[in-house]
Amino acid sequence: MRTVKYTRTTNWKQASSLLAKDPKSRAIAGGSDLLGMIKEGLQGKGLPRWETIVDIRTITGSDSIAYKDSDGLTIGALATLSALENHPDVQKRYPALAKAARAAASPNIRNTGTIGGNLNQRPRCWYFRNTEFNCYKKGGDFCFAVTGSNSYHAILNGELCYIVHPSDTAPALIALGASAVISTASGSEKTVPFDSYFTGPRVDVLRENILAQGDLLKEIHIPPPKAGAGMSFLKAQRRGETYDFALANVATVIVKKDGKADDARIVLSGVAPTPYRATAAEDAIKGQAITTEVAQAAADRALLQARPMTDNAYKVTLAKNLIVRSIMEAWA
Ligand SMILES: Cc1cc2nc3c(=O)[nH]c(=O)nc-3n(C[C@H](O)[C@H](O)[C@H](O)COP(=O)(O)OP(=O)(O)OC[C@H]3O[C@@H](n4cnc5c(N)ncnc54)[C@H](O)[C@@H]3O)c2cc1C
Ligand code: SF4
Repeated sequence: MRTVKYTRTTNWKQASSLLAKDPKSRAIAGGSDLLGMIKEGLQGKGLPRWETIVDIRTITGSDSIAYKDSDGLTIGALATLSALENHPDVQKRYPALAKAARAAASPNIRNTGTIGGNLNQRPRCWYFRNTEFNCYKKGGDFCFAVTGSNSYHAILNGELCYIVHPSDTAPALIALGASAVISTASGSEKTVPFDSYFTGPRVDVLRENILAQGDLLKEIHIPPPKAGAGMSFLKAQRRGETYDFALANVATVIVKKDGKADDARIVLSGVAPTPYRATAAEDAIKGQAITTEVAQAAADRALLQARPMTDNAYKVTLAKNLIVRSIMEAWA
């Protein structure tokens, strides 16, 4: 039987330092994603077989959620998705985030799974999750989705690898203008907007975000909601009656002023290797009084660059419809 070394940590600096020293170590939070990958035995030239897991749940206070009118919301990376969806300040002031957290996985997984783990979970591409396929993302030299079965894959920004980002909470956080506080391998901390946290295959096909070995997501900050802000989160999934990853989802925040959209952020997931900020749609609605026609024109612009594969053209229409509904919901 295969054994894995387990280490508990008590603070972020210690955790980052332990991870930085050992390239075959990985942080564990709730374990709902990581343990599955370890048990499946996924590995490759670019995906080490983890020999040590470093527990960060044991860091005191790392799961707190607190709101201040002056600063907004601070979420510890170890807060569970359940804690987030049920927190009164999240429900009242950031309903799109509460809805996104509730849309992820099943109640059992949300009780264990943390927001940090949700944002840093690895992709769900069936070839990546199968030991038989040594694809680019494991350090191999082929993408099996291009010639294989690609109904759940990317329609936007795919290149080399066509995964879709699996997190439901990521688009909500980007739409809300959130930032990540990162505990770095050097022992310092840095703050990065979530707009630049996720990275695509062009940057490095072996990872999905800016975190280097030893870097950890410590906290999330969301600014207080602006006066006149309305928001929405919508998700489409294949098995609507039970839990499932998104075929597409969209989070929208619109700030209304004098009857017009003064500001807008529209972010999709499930359609590209990173959460996809639909800036063309945002630009199309800014300065406008929103009607269904305005929202439809914005959705059409958002998907102009879509390049579907053999099995996933349906996602173009799906994403457009979600954008229209989400804009109308946020506006209302
Ligand atoms: C059956 C199933 C269905 C699911 N459905 C959905 C869904 O519909 N929508 C959705 O969004 N998600 C879904 N998920 C994913 C689920 O939300 C994640 O597994 C969970 O949130 C991960 O949290 P965790 O704390 O268990 O992470 P872990 O499994 O402990 O860690 C996951 C990864 O993140 C890294 N990590 C964890 N915390 C940090 C941190 N603070 N800083 C840096 N790296 C970190 C770990 O090293 C690991 O690589 C599903 C999962 C399963 C198993
Ligand atoms: S889409 Fe990415 S993860 Fe999936 S087979 Fe291609 S390279 Fe691998």
